Amino acid sequence: MATAPRLYVDDDLAEHTHLEFQPGPTNYLLRVMRLGPGDPVRLFNGRDGEWRARLEVQGRRAYGVVETCSRLQTSPPELTLVFAPLKKTRTDFLVEKATEMGATCLRPVVTAYTQTHRVKLERLQALVTEAAEQTERLDLPRLERIQPLSGLLADWPGDRPLFYCDEAGAAPPMQVELAASGAGPAGLLIGPEGGFSDLERAQLRACAGVRPVSLGPRILRAETAAVAALALWQSELGDWGNAPYVPEDPEAGRG
Ligand code: SAH
Repeated sequence: MATAPRLYVDDDLAEHTHLEFQPGPTNYLLRVMRLGPGDPVRLFNGRDGEWRARLEVQGRRAYGVVETCSRLQTSPPELTLVFAPLKKTRTDFLVEKATEMGATCLRPVVTAYTQTHRVKLERLQALVTEAAEQTERLDLPRLERIQPLSGLLADWPGDRPLFYCDEAGAAPPMQVELAASGAGPAGLLIGPEGGFSDLERAQLRACAGVRPVSLGPRILRAETAAVAALALWQSELGDWGNAPYVPEDPEAGRG
């Protein structure tokens, strides 16, 4: 039998907790996954680790009866992805990949050439939650409200490196900058389809903590650059040294 379905819940999780699933998860469990009473589900809330629960059904309502803790809560390395919203579904793609790649905070910013000034936070939150469930994370990345790039830079802690992916070329390779940087909370900054303006480049380079970096000789789409930068950081300074989590049911299918 494939591994038990995994859901993010807001509720506190402890032995004997009895929680009611929201309509969305209820539909997923009962109608999509066609589970029935007594079937196992895996729950996490970002605070209490992952717990195995049993499904209870009363009419159209579904409940979880929490039984045992199967994974202790861990806190991943703090990594903020600062990005300019992109056109159409490219922002959805970027947010989903950033969740799979372990970003702990997602900060949309408006830059000079940003073409999409609004983000649908509710929609992105649903994408983040679903990606976190699928990727076996024990936490959700924090999704912040959109703000101007200048506001983000004004609030950025000077002792926290912000690796600024600069497609204009005059920057050291990111892997070289990472090797020169210690582990610890960090940020990655990816520009919009139109890149950064010259004024922004000057502002960024004048900002404490900002490290301009290159992602090689080719111009990557913003969503590609985000995945590439996240992979480099996780590989060099993040948690890619850890083995992937395998749910206890060995023939578990993924996705
Ligand atoms: N319109 C610009 C490219 C923007 S690419 C042009 O054609 O020149 C979108 C974003 O991806 C950039 O702002 C940058 O943050 C990142 N990016 C893309 N390729 C990159 C590279 N080779 N090095 C560093 N950052 C890159």
